[in-house]
Amino acid sequence: MKRKVLLIYTGGTIGMEKNYETGELVPFDFSHIFSKMPEMNLLECEVSVHPFSKPLDSSDVGPEDWKKIAVLIHRHYDQYDGFLILHGTDTMSYSASALSFMLKGLRKPVIFTGSQLPIGDLRTDAKENLLTGLTYASWYEGDEAVIQEVAIYFEYKLLRGNRTLKYSAEYFDAYHSPNYPLLGQSGVHLKIETEDLFRPEPDEEFSIDTHISREVLFWRIFPGMTLEYFSEIPKMKVLILQVFGSGTIFGTEKTEQVLRKIRANGTEIVVVSQCISGGISFGKYENSSVFNRVGAISGKDLTAESAITKCMHLLDNPGYSGTFAENFALNLRGEVTE
Ligand code: ASP
Repeated sequence: MKRKVLLIYTGGTIGMEKNYETGELVPFDFSHIFSKMPEMNLLECEVSVHPFSKPLDSSDVGPEDWKKIAVLIHRHYDQYDGFLILHGTDTMSYSASALSFMLKGLRKPVIFTGSQLPIGDLRTDAKENLLTGLTYASWYEGDEAVIQEVAIYFEYKLLRGNRTLKYSAEYFDAYHSPNYPLLGQSGVHLKIETEDLFRPEPDEEFSIDTHISREVLFWRIFPGMTLEYFSEIPKMKVLILQVFGSGTIFGTEKTEQVLRKIRANGTEIVVVSQCISGGISFGKYENSSVFNRVGAISGKDLTAESAITKCMHLLDNPGYSGTFAENFALNLRGEVTE
């Protein structure tokens, strides 16, 4: 039986070609992909293309587009065996993280991919990413999809979407998931690490939860920073602080005063690390104990992208019964190491 994959084209470099007169990259009509790439006809799966009416540079992709993708997947869930989302590379990790939280009880592959060079470029990485992405998105063992989560396939690597970050603006090997092993690799053979794959709860039905809050702010701490500026920021519901190493910040009285003031406004403080590998451990140093004292929430080894979208998903979400801190501590889709 031929598996069916819905290819959702949102935009990004992958769907571009060069205008040789101006030198600019311009989008090409993705519905012509089969004539552009005749190799597509050799695939063992059947592919239907759903292009966004206006292809987006991924710096323009945001919550409304995440919802649109979630709704599209929900609407076509029974018709297709897998979904491949072509997306600009710049914010792909945000979208993959957001989608992982929006899709509950997922039992089919949802794979994101893109490319560093346009599909119309001689040296493009787009073709391999697209063809192998489709192969992963249609991989079944009997009646069961091998991948039942949101993943990114890029440059021979399959990664858990909500563990990724865009690591390079230059190299084809653009994505890493420093705190989680590769889900798979493509070489001569297509490999999958079965024991590292996410599985939903057995009794969980597939559903979507597209709730997103925008009242989240992210701030990177740096040496010599004027902490007083925090009191000039309008009130926000969640402040994510990206601090040093395993969770340290300036050990001054002023720091504690400012953090307490933010908390007294009812703002939740979530702490993540500036290191891309490893995570937060409150109280390991004197300079991180302040976070315990002010009741901040540890982001553990979440990526910044995952922490931000998890906060947006959970904040004021009527679908969760606990407090924000209790819900944030949950490992929803394998995004955090417990
Ligand atoms: N600016 C592009 C985007 O993210 C870059 C890319 O696709 O690689 O849409």
